[in-house]
Amino acid sequence: MQAEPVLVAGLIEACRATIAANSDHLCGLDRAIGDGDHGTNMRRGCEAVSAEEAFVSLLPLPDALEKIGLTLVMNIGGAAGPLYGTLLMEIGRELRTLDGKQDFPSALKQAIDAVARRGRSHAGDKTLLDVLYPVHDALAHRLPLTDIARQAALSAELTAAMKAMRGRAAYLGDRSIGHVDPGASSCALLTAAICRYLEEYRPV
Ligand code: ADP
Ligand code: MG
Repeated sequence: MQAEPVLVAGLIEACRATIAANSDHLCGLDRAIGDGDHGTNMRRGCEAVSAEEAFVSLLPLPDALEKIGLTLVMNIGGAAGPLYGTLLMEIGRELRTLDGKQDFPSALKQAIDAVARRGRSHAGDKTLLDVLYPVHDALAHRLPLTDIARQAALSAELTAAMKAMRGRAAYLGDRSIGHVDPGASSCALLTAAICRYLEEYRPV
């Protein structure tokens, strides 16, 4: 399964740009219920992926996703690094196993379950999973890209009402309620950037 190099390069840049533009916002969310570094962590990870964009975008899609995942693990750090890294690496592995069947929703579901296992977390724990599961649902129901992005943003907002059960925010207990989860927010921003890019993408 050879990805289109222009598509992969464009998606990498779209993700880097949205995280760079929202890095301060993400740090602000993390200052409220964590240690204030989520925007910086994500920015470092996305810039590292961008630095190898030319090489990565020429790889077959499963290999490209695995390489991006590895780079994210090594560069985001913190709790989010291994989780975002697992997500990308597992999507890559699943797509390779499906071997050309192109069932992206199924690959995404397996990868989200792997993230949940890695974080020992579930839907409702106030983490990035609370955006990933609804995004998968929207995708599996074949909603239009704009609706998937809207669902992701809404899902991130809904984490404000949740009590954190995992990660640093869990130490706050009930005091985590009333704040949007930073990881859920970065996940919604990335989803929106990917949907926007795909919406406008026209193969040359
Ligand atoms: P750290 O908490 O190490 O400073 P970040 O600030 O970069 O790492 O990332 C925090 C985000 O990671 C949280 O907002 C949450 O979405 C996610 N997270 C943390 N721990 C877990 C976990 N065990 N399972 C799922 N997501 C988690
Ligand atoms: Mg943090």
